[in-house]
Amino acid sequence: TDTRATFKRVMLKISGEALMGDQGYGLHPPTVERIAREVKAVHDMGVEICMVIGGGNVFRGLQGSAQGMERTTADYMGMLATVMNALAMQSALEGVGVFTRVISAITMNEVAEPYIRRRAVRHLEKKRVCIFAAGTGNPYFTTDTAATLRANEMSCEAIFMGKNGVDGVYDKDPQKHADAVRYDTITYDEVLQKRLAVMDASAIALARDNNLPLIVFPLDTPGGFKSILEGKGTFTRVQ
Ligand code: UDP
Repeated sequence: TDTRATFKRVMLKISGEALMGDQGYGLHPPTVERIAREVKAVHDMGVEICMVIGGGNVFRGLQGSAQGMERTTADYMGMLATVMNALAMQSALEGVGVFTRVISAITMNEVAEPYIRRRAVRHLEKKRVCIFAAGTGNPYFTTDTAATLRANEMSCEAIFMGKNGVDGVYDKDPQKHADAVRYDTITYDEVLQKRLAVMDASAIALARDNNLPLIVFPLDTPGGFKSILEGKGTFTRVQ
């Protein structure tokens, strides 16, 4: 699949864990900076970039509720965790000279802009990277759903999901099964039927119903994000 030329505006989704390096928790600034350079390389190609970063390196709602915390409160804590990650990424991006806006689904005007669709579009047109923080602003959702929602709202041509330790979608867990096979392309319906762990089901349905392709690629290959946009390297296209 040739991904070149087709992309003018994209969504990059990474999990919170992508920012923690080998630490097992929290933020690892050199890792955040490495990812910022990956983003800069694509920004330098003239591509307009939206980002959503998860919060799993700090807090996950489901973990909190499993430990007896009220679910919606735990989810709000998860959303706040994504704001910290977004600010760390903003700082790293500005450190490499990329203008950035953090746009939060939960208003906190001292820290981030509120989400106003037309304003976000304007930032993109001015080549500012928009980092959408605080998920969808609603409990019971994930940052995968947030990435899909904002990608639709911003008219992104695709979601690029950067993964660590895996270069696409496999028929079974490649870390556990030596004979696991990677798909070059797969449909959203197959992903749902086979219950493949790509995104949660609501995010997949939202992407499928709006014909938004998803490209799952390895984030730990240096220059990986740029290569994928040039149609090089290994990845899986879900559509
Ligand atoms: N979350 C939420 N609503 C959203 C997005 C996120 O409630 O729209 C909460 C949820 O508790 C989730 C946490 O924020 O567990 C962190 O997001 P996620 O698990 O998607 O992060 P990732 O796994 O990508 O690091």
